[in-house]
This record gives sequence, structure tokens and C-alpha cells, in this order.
Amino acid sequence: MDPITALFQEVLDDVRPDDAGATAQYIPELAAADPERLALAAVGPFGRVRAVGDDSAEFTIQSISKPFVLALALQERGRDEVLAKVGVEPSGEPFNAISLEDITGRPVNPMVNAGAIATTALVRGDDVDERTASVVDLLSAFAGRSLWVDEEVYASESATGDRNRALGHLLRSHGILEGSVEIAVETYFRQCSLLVTVRDLAVMASTLAFGGMNPVTRERVVDEDVARDVLSIMASCGMYDFSGEWMLRVGLPAKSGVSGGVLAVAPSQFGIAAFSPRLDEHGNSVRAIAAVETLSERFGMHLLESHETLATPAVTVDRDAEGRVVRLGGELGLAGAERVVSVLRGLATELPVDAIVTLDARELGRVHPAALAALRGALESMPGGFRLRE
Ligand code: GLN
Repeated sequence: MDPITALFQEVLDDVRPDDAGATAQYIPELAAADPERLALAAVGPFGRVRAVGDDSAEFTIQSISKPFVLALALQERGRDEVLAKVGVEPSGEPFNAISLEDITGRPVNPMVNAGAIATTALVRGDDVDERTASVVDLLSAFAGRSLWVDEEVYASESATGDRNRALGHLLRSHGILEGSVEIAVETYFRQCSLLVTVRDLAVMASTLAFGGMNPVTRERVVDEDVARDVLSIMASCGMYDFSGEWMLRVGLPAKSGVSGGVLAVAPSQFGIAAFSPRLDEHGNSVRAIAAVETLSERFGMHLLESHETLATPAVTVDRDAEGRVVRLGGELGLAGAERVVSVLRGLATELPVDAIVTLDARELGRVHPAALAALRGALESMPGGFRLRE
């Protein structure tokens, strides 16, 4: 076992004894799940899937489908059209709450059922089959393999889905859901009944982590701004009425589902997923939460703690035939630009006034336009021999 996988195994062993919670009772097929199952997986930038525990056990994706169907709606229709039908504010309420915004009638966000049904209603297609096909195609591209609907769970959800149907009718009465309530709600039940493993969820998470590019298949699945929008909404709303505490403790955009999956994203680093069917009072998996929280702590993944790389881009100083060359690498943000300017100022005081100094920005992996503008401005106030190559 490689050292990183061994650390995942330790995390899993540490959370295993916790037997709090119970399987989802309101969908009969989910109530019958094996509560002992436990798995953890992560996928990094090179597309290697590391997984421990019951990593080949299949379960239905449930609400973890919501961010991906949101990605489909955003990709097909753009942000404004989606925002006209669903809000982006944390609800502080349970996932199946019957609550819509006062004036607009919009559901508060796409991660609770009302918002997810409104989002699914935006997927194009004439009937349930056509819409399901387009959902399945996109989620399969996120997972890097063909996913299938579990017909028994679907039948079980549809037979007991009166509350979701009621939400659909309420949305239609407010003009949020246009067209057939039945098509929207049945498509929603089918998307929730897609079978995945913890490995699939980790690959799906990693596709969001790397800006919409699947690191396993190397396929671009959605645009970078779509991935960013989805992650932003997951960050504030993904764990229902536990979203604030989750952000505090774990610090990663995430999404849970009532079959016991949790998926979390460390942008530009890892896609993570955990699975364990027993749920807490919010409908989130007890041990999957504990596993991701432990992983985030041990690997320092909290997004809001300070991270070095943006503030310290790679800077190397060489010579060429004309004089000094300051080469930049990595990502240049505002703090990084400040650091580069201080290196240049140091050189300006050390070198003769007619020295030639070239700042070479061509190898930067990513540049934020304002950071480059700050460098250009700083160079103007330097001696004449300082110039920027971009
Ligand atoms: N299919 C489930 C429902 O609509 C999904 C809910 C969930 O995973 N939180 O009730």
C-alpha cells in the first residue's frame, strides 16, 4: 500500500467504530442498505484513484446528483437563466423543506429538493427518457464510466415521492417550473437512482476540483466557470442545515446524499468521497462526514487557512547575454506580485543604474490580470533597464 493510501486506511479505521445514526427510512430500498459499509476514496491531479474499504460497493447517488445536474443546467442555459428559477442562499432548513422565496417564488438553492427539482426541470428534452439520457451522459462523463439507474430504487422513490411531487406542483404554481411536473419529478427520481461507487464519486469530485476537466479521462466535461459556480453553491449550501458548521470544521465545498455518500472538493488538489449508510438528523452520513473531516485536518485542506503558493510564486534569477533575468513560475496573485516587486527593488539597489533586468513572465502557469498590471506599473517606476517579457 502506498503511503497516501495507508493514511486513508488509518482515517477509515479511526472512524469505523462510530455506529451512531440510521439508514434513510423514508425510501424503503434505502432503509434496507447494509449499515456497516464504509469506504473512502480520493483522486488527485494525475488521475490516480486511491480507495480503501468497500470501494466497489454500489449505492444510489441520491442528492449528490444535484450539483452535477446543476452543472448541466448552467452549461446548457447559462447562469442568468438558472438564477431566474433558483436562488443561491443557504436555507438553514432540512433538505426536503417546503419553502420558497417570498417575492420570486424561487426555491432558496439548488441543493435542497425544491431547488433540485427546479434545476432538473431546466434540462432539455421532450420526455423523461430524453432528459434522463442527457443527465446520465453528463454524470457518466464526470465519473469517467457509464452509469446506470437502479430501477428498484427508482420505483421505490417514485412510489413514496409524494412530498417531492407536492414541491413540483408548488413550483409550477409560482411559474418556476414550466411544463410537466411529472416529467421533472420523474427525471429527478431517476437522477437520484443512478448507481455509483465511492471511486466514481471521487472521480466526479476531482472533475470539479480541476475546473471541469476529468483528470482520469482527460476529457473536458464542463467549462471552468460552470465548475466554479457549482463549487461556490456547494460551499454554502451542500450540507443542508449543517453547511455552516461543515465549512467551519472541514472547509471544503461538499455534497451529501441520503444513501450515505459525501463528496468533497479541494480545488486544484483532490476530489474526495466517502460512503457509510447511517445518517445523522440532517440526513448526512455520520461516518462519511467524520472521514472527510479527519482527512481535511490531517492533510491541511481547509480552504480558508493560509496557503503559501499564491503568495510565493517561483522566482529564479539567472543571467543571459544582456544582463539579469528574473523568471517567474507557478501562479501569480496579488501577494505574489508584491513579492516579485520587492525582489526587483532589491536588484535595483544592488545593480549599476544602467543594468538590464528582464522580468520573464512567460512561464507562469496562471496569471491574474490585475497582478500582471501591478507588475507593469511597478516596472515603470524602476530604472530604465528593467523590462517585462510576457
Ligand atoms: N431522492 C432523495 C429525495 O428526494 C434525495 C434526498 C437526499 O439525498 N438528501 O428525498
